[in-house]
Amino acid sequence: MKEIIPQGVKISQVYDCDSGLISDQCTYLSDDSKKDAEWDKWRSNSQLLEEMLMQGDEPGILRYAERMQNCSKSLLFALDAGIDGEIRQRLKEVKFCRFRHCAVCQARRSRRNYAQFLKSLPEILEKQKGARWVFLTLTVPNVNISNLREKLSSMNEGWNRFNKLKEFKNILAWVRSTEITKEKEEKTKREGYAHPHFHVLMMVKSTYFFGKNYVNQEKWLKAWRGAMRDDSIISVDVRIADRYKGKKLTGQELVKSVSETLKYSVKPSDMLEDRSWVVELIKQVHKLRFLAAGGFLKGVFVKRKLTNEEMIHTGEIEKQGEEIAELRYWWRIFEKRYARKF
Ligand SMILES: [Zn+2]
Repeated sequence: MKEIIPQGVKISQVYDCDSGLISDQCTYLSDDSKKDAEWDKWRSNSQLLEEMLMQGDEPGILRYAERMQNCSKSLLFALDAGIDGEIRQRLKEVKFCRFRHCAVCQARRSRRNYAQFLKSLPEILEKQKGARWVFLTLTVPNVNISNLREKLSSMNEGWNRFNKLKEFKNILAWVRSTEITKEKEEKTKREGYAHPHFHVLMMVKSTYFFGKNYVNQEKWLKAWRGAMRDDSIISVDVRIADRYKGKKLTGQELVKSVSETLKYSVKPSDMLEDRSWVVELIKQVHKLRFLAAGGFLKGVFVKRKLTNEEMIHTGEIEKQGEEIAELRYWWRIFEKRYARKF
């Protein structure tokens, strides 16, 4: 279903998506439900990538673009009347394209991970009293994007050696995500270069911070260099994840902090900068897994692909009370907003 803009009509006016006619009796999702305002941003990014990928002739890439074009064209929400008298808007039905680089699908996957993590956190904390959280970022020298797949494979092998080292003695569980950014340093920025790195969130025994158990930045760097068999690696970053300005983070704050690093595999801004870089990236990372976990976090960050249903019901908002109505919002490709008729 395409929107038709009649001549002389401003894009800022609201259109009836079904008929293509102008209708003033429309309302925007971001006005109806503040918590769902992010949909416009996700869907815009997806549309921008789709439009960029369309400017070429590789059949495989065009197929991805077509899939994204059909992603989340409309969103069906239910209105639930709770026993407290409040009316809540809850996502009920969407068709996702499930292309791994689609901004909408990526955002829904990360929502699901976040909600799952939040749900399982009390049990984890109960079982592992006093455990702490540490972030580790592991880098390697930047590579030309055409060598990315090979580099990622050697990083995975390096990781398998790394997590068996003595430095992991006090690590109870970990989750690792792969992120790829464009080479950034102003002076050295080389065309077509990528910066692959691992973000690792580790749950550590409280004794990790004491005496000879403590693994400082220098020791982590040495261990990572050894595991990668590459002395040209110049840095690893290690920081505490469960404190902010010295204050202990709990519950949702803690999950927010620790989920932050698991958000993207490629930042949306990097995806939209340079078509040839992105096309090569898509080919290079095809079917590679970007999320891995060890210890009891394995069960939290599911390995298998999420279903369409799981991407709708991420677990953040459950049905409360009785469903009293349904609202359907359509994506407006010119306005880049979701809207519905009254
Ligand atoms: Zn999608």
